Amino acid sequence: MESAAESKVDVLIVGAGPAGLMLSLWLAKLGVKTRVVDKRTGKIVSGQADGFQCRTLEIFDSFGIGHKVWHEANHMLEVSFWNPDQDGKIRRHHRGPNTQPNLSRFTESVLHQGRVESILIDTIRASASDKHPLIEIERSVMPTALTIDESCVDDEDAYPVEVTLRHLTEEEATPTQRLSNLQDGLYRSNLAEDDTERLLANTNGVGREEKVRAKYVVGCDGAHSWVRKTLGEEYQMKGESTDAIWGVLDIIPITDFPDIRSRCMIHSAEYGAMMIIPRENKLVRVYTQLKKVSTGTGRVDRSQITPDFILETARKILSPYTLDYHYIDWWTAYQIGQRVGDRFSKHNRVFLTGDAVHTHSPKAGQGMNVSMGDTYNLGWKLGLVCKKLLRPQVLDTYELERKQIAQQLIAFDHKFSRLFSGRPAKDASDEAGSSMSEFQQAFREAQLFITGVGIRYQPSILTSESDLKGGLQDTETASQGQVISVAESAAHCQPGRRFASQIVLSQADARPWELQLHLPSDGRFRVVVFGGDISQATQLATVNKLGGWLQANWMTDEDPSIVDVLLVHSAPRDKIEMLQDLHDVFHPFDKKLGWDYDKVFADSQGSAHEHYGVDPERGAIVAVRPDGYIGLVTALQAEDGWRRLQVWFDGLLRPSSS
Ligand code: FAD
Repeated sequence: MESAAESKVDVLIVGAGPAGLMLSLWLAKLGVKTRVVDKRTGKIVSGQADGFQCRTLEIFDSFGIGHKVWHEANHMLEVSFWNPDQDGKIRRHHRGPNTQPNLSRFTESVLHQGRVESILIDTIRASASDKHPLIEIERSVMPTALTIDESCVDDEDAYPVEVTLRHLTEEEATPTQRLSNLQDGLYRSNLAEDDTERLLANTNGVGREEKVRAKYVVGCDGAHSWVRKTLGEEYQMKGESTDAIWGVLDIIPITDFPDIRSRCMIHSAEYGAMMIIPRENKLVRVYTQLKKVSTGTGRVDRSQITPDFILETARKILSPYTLDYHYIDWWTAYQIGQRVGDRFSKHNRVFLTGDAVHTHSPKAGQGMNVSMGDTYNLGWKLGLVCKKLLRPQVLDTYELERKQIAQQLIAFDHKFSRLFSGRPAKDASDEAGSSMSEFQQAFREAQLFITGVGIRYQPSILTSESDLKGGLQDTETASQGQVISVAESAAHCQPGRRFASQIVLSQADARPWELQLHLPSDGRFRVVVFGGDISQATQLATVNKLGGWLQANWMTDEDPSIVDVLLVHSAPRDKIEMLQDLHDVFHPFDKKLGWDYDKVFADSQGSAHEHYGVDPERGAIVAVRPDGYIGLVTALQAEDGWRRLQVWFDGLLRPSSS
């Protein structure tokens, strides 16, 4: 083995699955010196996750790549529930929308994980520039040792985490497949042993070793996470496994089943349950409960599980309809269980994300989404701390915000997967059976969580309280002496929730825009000023005074400034001359590019104001975090309202001289 070289890096990411790649994308966009290593030779080419939730599509769109997924993916618009009738035959019991309408401008869509990873990798590469170093995924590399120098974890300039990396041979880095002619996901499944221990034990390899000193290390290394295990006992995940085993086939089906191009949840009387997911390129994913391999003792006879066995079971469930295929793309099997870690970070220097810190069953299409949600949450915080723009205390909010989501996910999956795997109750007196109406209701009620749009982060330095009861902080005194509740100033904009999209018109050229498109993921905080009716002189004066105050206080010399300002007003559009009437902050000037015309929007009919819960006369201020979540809502007229904004920013942003 060659001797260890040594280097330094700001962030070392272990694992280039969806979580690792989303994190790499943020750090590439923000220009942070980063290395990403993965023990496999290449990204996955088929199978694994495929469900893309609305919020994840919004996030991809904020990076300018939502259209790629949206265009290629299958849009899953309907869901059908099939249950046994009195004679034990499956019948369509209910058909309805798969995603509750109007939650988002997107709907749940399906595209396989390998394609999603390709889109992310291409975008990471394309983010490299003179200012931003290229981040390449380093394949066939795995860590073998990690130590934290606790004496310097509070020193921001220190590199307290030392990691030894081993470069693997191609043979070591290539996963073993069960069948020689077909890709499977068994090597990643919880029914198979992970190979990390075996690779670590192999000290006779020819692979080179190197030492890396990192400011931060992020474990994105999946369910068998080596990083998590290295952090010690207290990082073990807690939870339980059931004896329910499910098989998965990705096939182009040949069938007379009428709903094959809809999402279906099917419960048979005798043979178990099944889910159908219509996919891109005529593929269909069939999830099948494998009752015969469940021993009831937690031990599974894995040798029985083959594509033919899964197909045979699916046929029984779907009978009297037929099911066959000529083309199969991928297959796997897994055991249902739910586990979550207690701690998501050590000293805010090593972080755990994605499957490395929460695992559950895949049928509700959550894992890839929540995993990317973790690193979407962490990435900008880490990036802006590395760039010394954000106070390091903000890193505390990663565990606070994402552990809560992971726990909600585990609770939801626990309920949903047990109802799904349960035998359908014959009637109300059949207490051992699962109620199918309860199952449907659980699915409907969980829509806000499943789609990701219902997430609400709890109060912290990043997310202000919205509904304080009583006390001075609850109200702002307007210039007219009128008392305004802060929560009321934008009643439907709750701190901790994502800033939803509404259509507004560009002041400059009347083009309708989804407002969310003007809040891209570029690492900037956004102050969205709802200006109210600025055709009124006093209202215009207030908005312009606020513009001057924002410019003087928060528009730094950084290019671009860490704070960006947008104005949405409710005045008749033709009553406003953007350049003449409005403060410079609403149309910044660049010597080469001229004025920026994309900062001012008209909502003259007031419908966006209504959706945001903002009074179209009075307006409001909504401060949005770089990840599109609302940090603070405050009143427009009152100077107290601006002071709240000042206090909020002071707690987060570092003075430019420090
Ligand atoms: P992973 O995707 O597991 O990525 C971890 C990466 O780390 C891998 O590239 C691995 O090679 C690498 N790695 C592991 N150990 C090491 C090491 N020691 N050193 C270096 N690298 C290492 N989720 C959804 O959202 N929607 C779905 O529809 C969906 N369907 C699913 C269907 C199936 C059949 C399965 C099995 C899962 C499904 N999931 C779904 C779950 C989803 O696949 C995972 O939750 C998601 O992949 C987790 O992402 P991750 O980046 O955290 O981990």
